[in-house]
Amino acid sequence: MMKEDRRNRKRKRGKRGQKPAASPPPPSGDDASFAKHKSGNSSSVSALQSKTISKPNKTSSFIDKMRARLSGGHFRMINEKLYTCSGDEALNYFKQDPQLFSVYHAGYQEQMSHWPDQPVNIMIKWLKDHDPSFVVADFGCGDARLSRSVKNKVFSIDLVSNDPSVIACDMSDTPLGSSSVDVAVFCLSLMGINYPSYLQEAHRVLKPGGWLLIAEVKSRLDPNTGGADPVKFVKAVCELGYTSVLKDFSNKMFVLLHFKKKDKQKLQGREIDWPELKPCIYKRR
Ligand code: SAH
Repeated sequence: MMKEDRRNRKRKRGKRGQKPAASPPPPSGDDASFAKHKSGNSSSVSALQSKTISKPNKTSSFIDKMRARLSGGHFRMINEKLYTCSGDEALNYFKQDPQLFSVYHAGYQEQMSHWPDQPVNIMIKWLKDHDPSFVVADFGCGDARLSRSVKNKVFSIDLVSNDPSVIACDMSDTPLGSSSVDVAVFCLSLMGINYPSYLQEAHRVLKPGGWLLIAEVKSRLDPNTGGADPVKFVKAVCELGYTSVLKDFSNKMFVLLHFKKKDKQKLQGREIDWPELKPCIYKRR
């Protein structure tokens, strides 16, 4: 009896003793505290994110969790920034700290891995089903997966170029020639508050009859969730000098809109009533 009591006490002490090492209380408000941290010194965060722990133990799993929280919070912060500033501001933001681009894309890929279909694959399939001699401009190419997956000549454009084939610029002002491409792709990339100027630039570089392919986050074009009216959006794009060819709302996560550039230029001087596209805020996972 006495022995049994002692064993029980030992077991209880053991459990209590292990607890703090196994799961210390998580830091609260990770996004906010990260934002403070970030504005002071982004490299220390990157250092924490890239630090390698050789022995997998309970401490390392806590550090892994912390690291995932930090990079998740960091991703959402950069994402919000890109949706709430203009393209040239976004270009300067990444110029000041190009590492942010890698943090953004690690988070972006993590989010995409939870989507049943990835819109970039739909774009790739479309290109494979059409003329391989079509010259393509991929506006906001990200990791340039599209160009690696098709036979076409692709001009990949993004704010940062970690790959020599990617043209680093703000996509409202690209170095591409006028009427030089057959297909302009915007795959989840109408991010800046000046997004109409990206569609205007695509109109400049597209040949008459050229294709404009847009995939955009569904909630941004769903009035039921506070998004823009898709009819208004399509009307505005058409007024820029395009004809609407496809409106596909069948996917749960994104809408697909295809247009063709009209042969004739739009009437000059007419104000286009562009709907505001709300930021897409990704869920914490
Ligand atoms: N199209 C890719 C990446 C989508 S993420 C895919 O589907 O996988 C959106 C991309 O658009 C990001 O890489 C972001 O840097 C880019 N982007 C946003 N605004 C931009 C701008 N003004 N000029 C160039 N690229 C931009």
